[in-house]
Amino acid sequence: MLRAPVIVAAHGSWEPGPLPSQLGKTNRPSDLLGFKAHFTGSSLAPDLMPLLVFPGGYGGMVSADHGRLSISCCIRRDMLALLRKQPGPTQQSHLSAADAVSRHLMESCRGVRDALESAHPDGSWLAAGPIRPGIRSCYERDIFRVGNAAGESHPVVAEGISMALQSGWLLACELACAPDGRAGREAAGRRYEAAWKKLFSTRVYAAAAIAGITLRPGNATLMAAIIRNFPQALTLGAQLSGKTKPVPGFV
Ligand SMILES: Cc1cc2nc3c(=O)[nH]c(=O)nc-3n(C[C@H](O)[C@H](O)[C@H](O)COP(=O)(O)OP(=O)(O)OC[C@H]3O[C@@H](n4cnc5c(N)ncnc54)[C@H](O)[C@@H]3O)c2cc1C
Repeated sequence: MLRAPVIVAAHGSWEPGPLPSQLGKTNRPSDLLGFKAHFTGSSLAPDLMPLLVFPGGYGGMVSADHGRLSISCCIRRDMLALLRKQPGPTQQSHLSAADAVSRHLMESCRGVRDALESAHPDGSWLAAGPIRPGIRSCYERDIFRVGNAAGESHPVVAEGISMALQSGWLLACELACAPDGRAGREAAGRRYEAAWKKLFSTRVYAAAAIAGITLRPGNATLMAAIIRNFPQALTLGAQLSGKTKPVPGFV
């Protein structure tokens, strides 16, 4: 039992648990599992942030802190299972999930091969998920939700951290002027939910559409058409994914 004047759930959406705000477990072939690793000595230009598209998933590369390259991606559960059936380092073993993802990226994406040609891993691969893109309730059973607990966009538009921070800001703005008591919290919850939807809905839908294009096998032609229309397509993508939207009340 949790007792407090205000309860805010900020536990993300990837770990199941007993709290009323936590999501139940899923296990579908189409679930997307997240992976991330760092490398040193890569040849990726520091001002590039390539989007990776490969069978069964999508991802991105970016120059991170201390001269490291960060690669992260999402891959369908059924594709990962298929890849792991390939022979591992010894005759008897199957590939680990990390080795399977790493090999798949190297085999599918020339840009990854080029960037990592003389690079070395810095730490092990990390995994999370399945991710749970979608719009959820911002206030239910007297619990406020921020970050992924309230709603999540496909990481293809790299907006999740920003949305998590901004949703906390939106909620704080509403709570700061809410009177004490349940009625005050309910009114704040309604205003917060309306503000959340206004600021984030478009990017959640846009990210789902972009992820759909990258994930569907027959959509390479559509993707090629989008890329032919750079840089205009990039500007539109930045607008739809909310990167140009100011945060309300933040001067
Ligand atoms: C592969 C991949 C790449 C991504 N790349 C980007 C990117 O480039 N840019 C970007 O902006 N976003 C990116 N994202 C999305 C981003 O990581 C998330 O949107 C963001 O981390 C959500 O923040 P959060 O605080 O809501 O949840 P989380 O970061 O998931 O944090 C929730 C925390 O709560 C803890 N927790 C869980 N249950 C409980 C409990 N019962 N009690 C206490 N604590 C609990 C968890 O352990 C965790 O530490 C990526 C996601 C993936 C999967």
